[in-house]
Formats: sequence, C-alpha cells, structure tokens
Amino acid sequence: MNRVADDIAAGARILRGERNWWFLGPGGGVARLRAGHVSADGTLRPDAERRLREHGLLSAAPPSTYSLTVLTSTHCNLGCGYCFQNTGQDAADGSRPPRIPRIRLTSRTITSILDFTDRQMAAAGLDKLRVLLFGGEPLLNPRGCVELLERAADHGMTSAWMISNATLLTPALAARLAGLGLESVQVTFDGDRPDHDRIRVVRADGGGTFDTIVGNIVRASQAAPLRWILRVNVSQETYQGVDALIDRLAGALDPGRCALYFAQVGDVGVGYGNDLPHSGDVSARFSRWQRRALDLGFTVTRPQAHRPCATCGYGDGRYGAVVSADGTLSSCWETAGKDDWQVGTVTGGYLPDTPDRQRRWIGCEDLYRRGEDARTLAAFHDTVDAALLDYLDETGRL
Ligand code: SF4
Repeated sequence: MNRVADDIAAGARILRGERNWWFLGPGGGVARLRAGHVSADGTLRPDAERRLREHGLLSAAPPSTYSLTVLTSTHCNLGCGYCFQNTGQDAADGSRPPRIPRIRLTSRTITSILDFTDRQMAAAGLDKLRVLLFGGEPLLNPRGCVELLERAADHGMTSAWMISNATLLTPALAARLAGLGLESVQVTFDGDRPDHDRIRVVRADGGGTFDTIVGNIVRASQAAPLRWILRVNVSQETYQGVDALIDRLAGALDPGRCALYFAQVGDVGVGYGNDLPHSGDVSARFSRWQRRALDLGFTVTRPQAHRPCATCGYGDGRYGAVVSADGTLSSCWETAGKDDWQVGTVTGGYLPDTPDRQRRWIGCEDLYRRGEDARTLAAFHDTVDAALLDYLDETGRL
C-alpha cells in the first residue's frame, strides 16, 4: 500500500491507476497525480505534497455528527451461517445456529439511550445526530424502531438509516419510518438467487429469501422515498453468480435509487470460512462488477482514504456509540450484544480506560482479518479502487 507519511496525513492513500496516480485525502478529496509527483517507493514528492496541502487535501475535519447505532432486537428471523452474532455453527447442519441472547428494546431503555446520547453529544460539542437502526433484525421490533426515531427527533436527529434483511419490511412500515426520518436501508444479497437462497435462509424452516427481499424492496420503494444500499457478499460460494445478480437486480429494482457494493465475507470465529483468495482474478471480477453496476445506473461506493470510523475509531466513544437492546455499550457493530465485549452501559457510561477495556475496544476491521497478510489485502483493495477511479474518470463520473 502506498501512503503519505503518517505525520503528513494519516489515512491518505496513493493508488497507481492506468494513466496516472490517484491521491485520496483524509477529508474525502480526490486528486490526479502525475508520475513526477510520486517517488519510486510510492510516496509523495515534496512539491506535490505542498500543492495538496495548499488545496486542503491533506487535512480532515473531525466528525460533525454523532453516530448512534441501536439494536432494537438482538434476535433474527434468518439463520445465516456467517453471522457475527452466531456463537457457533448449527450442530445439525440446519438453519438455526446458536446466537447471542434474545433482547428487545423497550421504552425505558430508549429513555436511557437518549439521555446518554445527550451527554455524549454535549461533551463532544456536537448538535447533530445520525441514528442507525440495527439488529439482529431491527424490524422484529417495529414499535421500538418507530419509538426510537420519534423520540430521537427531539435530540438533534438529522438523519437515520437502517441495516435490515428486508424480509419483514412492509410498505406501511417503510412509509412510517421514512416519515420519521429514515433515509436509506442497507440490505444484503449473498450472490445470485440460487446461492442467496441456500445461504440467507429463514431460521424457522431453512427457506430461501431472495424473492421476498426483492419484492419487499419494490413495494417499499413505491410507498416511501427510501434509498437502498445493496451489499453483495462475495465468497467462494457466491462469486460465480455475481454477474447474473447485478443484471437481475437492475431488472427488478430502480438502479437510480440503489448503491451497490461488493464485500468479501470473513470468518469472524464462528467457523464460516471464505477461501476466495485476494488474487488478480478476483480483483478483475470486482472491477468488472463495479463497471457493470455503473453502466446499469447503480451508484457504486467511491474509494476513500482510510479514515477512522466515527463509532469505533477514536478509542473513547467520543463521536458515536453502539448500544444493544438492553443498554449495554460495545465499541463496534460486530461485538454488540456479546457479554465478553461490553465496554459500558448507557446508565453508567463507558468503563474506565483499563487494559481490559482496551482489549474489548476493537474496530470494524479487527474481527474480519483473514489468514492473508495485511499487505496482500491492502494491495487487493488498492487494485480494485484504482480501477474504479480510472473508470469513473474515463466515463466522466468523477
Ligand atoms: S440477516 Fe443479518 S443478523 Fe440475521 S442472521 Fe443473517 S447476518 Fe445475522
């Protein structure tokens, strides 16, 4: 990975494109660099650095919004084998892997969460709040979702989104939540329909969910002005169907309201391995999928610098929190609802900064580290991201 020296701009990236180098600044800016701007080892030459600094591309403002993630239900109606909230695999090879304890968000806990949020926002000097409805499956507790958004409006909420499997999303509920400020919903596909229906299964009976999800998105889109973030999970079990999936989604949904992104599934310690290597063939596939998605009218998430996550990236919860349905705090989504990973409660605040709390304070990426070394992983992402920037540039979308 090519980086600007840490003392200049932590997280900035320099990528080698087909025709030029790309600079991704920590504040979100993108700049085109010529060969003369970059030395042989991929670092910035002083004059290029000076010009980027003059244009403000080496600096980043701290988050201006407090990010609050709330699990409205820790339970889920699906039984995905790779779910990071599983505590193991289904011993009978069925669709019911053991999960974290089942808890629902109540009115009383919402009060405690919003009081805690007020205190945290005041301490950080922030007055804008972004809420994420999370689970388990958040829509297993629709009343909790509605009440949280209704009441968060009086605590500075300026935007809200949800990560949901979408199997329980009705048009009426979509309209209600959108009316309360919900802007977008992230929904996952595990490859094309046959793969998805084998992996993303109903917990109760192992049935497939692809058609239900797509149908619910279509009907919810008619009822509410929601945008959709479609995450495509890529693993050795799904990658061969991704081309067909993109075309299928474009035929069923309005690509103009959807962003697509492709993500490799990692083993988070529950025995669900992903053997797909970070090879040249796989990076070429990612690039092909991104180009096809763009050509069909989807948005594709733009490459960014390595900026700290507002929720887990600061080590002290200054700019955001993840709260489970019982009011316990964790550092990031992946550890929410897991007893051994709690870093406090909304009533008592964060635990003192001891080595034990530091051990529990993990970041988004930590649990997904796979067997390959960090250099291989970074090179893979750099290749895919540079190819996307090249294509955005080539097609006038940059
Ligand atoms: S839908 Fe989400 S929360 Fe539910 S089992 Fe699958 S990955 Fe886990």
